[in-house]
Amino acid sequence: MLRHRLLLAGLIATVANIASAQTIYPLNRADILTGAKFDFKVEFPGAPAEGETKILIGGKDPAAFFGKAGSFVRNEDGLDHSAYVIRDVTITKPGAVEVEATVGGKSAKVAWDVYATTQPRKAKNVILFIGDGLSIAHRTAARILSKGIVEGKYGGELEIDDMPAMALISTAGSDSIVTDSANSMSAYTSGHKSCVNALGVYCARNKSTLDHPKVETIGELAKRHGMAVGVITNTEIEDATPAGMVSHTRRRSDYNDIVEMFYKVRPDVIMGGGSPNFLPTATPPGKRTDGKDYIKMFEEAGYRFAGTNTEMKKADTDGVTKLLGLFNTGNVDGALDRFFLKKGGVPRFPDQPDLTDQVQVSLDMLSKSDKGFVLMVESGRIDKYSHSLDAERAIYDTIMLDNAVKIAKDFARKNNDTLVIVVGDHAHPVSVIGVYDDDRPGQTPREKLGVYQDAKAPNYPAPNAQGYPPSVDVSRRIALNFGTYPDNCFNAKPYLDGENVPAVAGATPNTYIANEKNCERPGSVRINGNIPFDANTETHSGDDVLLTAMGPGSEFFHGHMPNVRVFKAMVTALALGE
Ligand SMILES: [Zn+2]
Repeated sequence: MLRHRLLLAGLIATVANIASAQTIYPLNRADILTGAKFDFKVEFPGAPAEGETKILIGGKDPAAFFGKAGSFVRNEDGLDHSAYVIRDVTITKPGAVEVEATVGGKSAKVAWDVYATTQPRKAKNVILFIGDGLSIAHRTAARILSKGIVEGKYGGELEIDDMPAMALISTAGSDSIVTDSANSMSAYTSGHKSCVNALGVYCARNKSTLDHPKVETIGELAKRHGMAVGVITNTEIEDATPAGMVSHTRRRSDYNDIVEMFYKVRPDVIMGGGSPNFLPTATPPGKRTDGKDYIKMFEEAGYRFAGTNTEMKKADTDGVTKLLGLFNTGNVDGALDRFFLKKGGVPRFPDQPDLTDQVQVSLDMLSKSDKGFVLMVESGRIDKYSHSLDAERAIYDTIMLDNAVKIAKDFARKNNDTLVIVVGDHAHPVSVIGVYDDDRPGQTPREKLGVYQDAKAPNYPAPNAQGYPPSVDVSRRIALNFGTYPDNCFNAKPYLDGENVPAVAGATPNTYIANEKNCERPGSVRINGNIPFDANTETHSGDDVLLTAMGPGSEFFHGHMPNVRVFKAMVTALALGE
């Protein structure tokens, strides 16, 4: 999935981002929470001696301002710049802070807004739901399939929509108007904008992906304040969204390092897929080259390990409060495969939990914390199935997100001390444009597509108790279409044999061509891709995403807000400023 392209983009950005003036991190207009840790860094072009440079923060020398000595490195990492760095600093006094860095008579200036949080604390707990890539059309499609629609009116509301607070969230990163899940999640978890592929760092010029200037995450902050923390997903636990709760790296694919970062921060409940990066290469399917067995290390640190849904539930009934659950070597299978089609990894991993069960177990465990908790829940395959142009699977995992949110809302209503937030981390270019209707003459998708007055309500069977229609293979299907795609073959039918693979590697290096297997499906047509040749899947969009929220602190959300404000809302509700 797209990782190849992101990695390449990240590499180019790291190597080629040699600007002419000095750069100050955090960047201009950064919002900084009082007491939250960050790395201060200034990069000067060329190789000036320290004495030829001057830095003033609020009119003071940085060491005096932060009460901590910094270090100056000429030609940092052998590159054509020099750097002044102080790691792990904090600012405790709110207000505007101006930073000026001068060399050779030229100055660069940034201004930060340092903000405190007001007392008393409004919320004991925060539950942050991320629908990865969750866009407006995913919600519409999930509502149509899950609630039904008659004469233009739905049979009910989705839980994710039926919340009192709502805002439009813009998701652009510091480098691009379109984010990936790494820097978009970092914005939520640290309150700082970052760049594509980066987690919990500003994208500086460091060679090592682990040396870029760091910003503290809400996972770290909450742990430092004695709160419990949960990170649960149905993707690999090392994937960008869950990793964003604890990680600091310029490269989201640093999976082995990310596991180490989970171990360092120690969220109380950790659940997802991605077991190989916890195990040494000597223990197949282990991928760790440092020989460490992190499952064993977590167990020695007091965690119960669960490899199946049954083991996860047993840990809950046993009263466990620290749980590491890894249910698949890759991503946990989506709802359509687990409940109905039994494809994907289901034959190999028949006892994987549903996100609803993960949420229930997490709430049971985390709510035992006197000081409250922060729980991040990701329905991560909405994004992955959108990349693979697999509309039905993306819709079913949106319904799964909705079911998981219901459990959190029921929990939150009991004491009204929990802020619940539901938001996508970035959008996909998806739209509900009508229906594919087999009763229309012809065989090809364009002939079967009904738009405007021909877009009659789809005829999925009535949904089951969990809101899922028991079949997607019906004669009038929702047309949730994608605005970007590689070369592919398409017949407007659901992929009953497993997740769609739209494109495969072509003969020319770094190009992708249509997957011929799809070209053999009845009624299939060849579609010319409309994205760069080295992209093998649908891409993200820069559209805003919708945020809904309930509970104390939810009144913070209204109108349009940049994604970094979600962090501000959470830490304000929890009064995590110092
Ligand atoms: Zn994605």
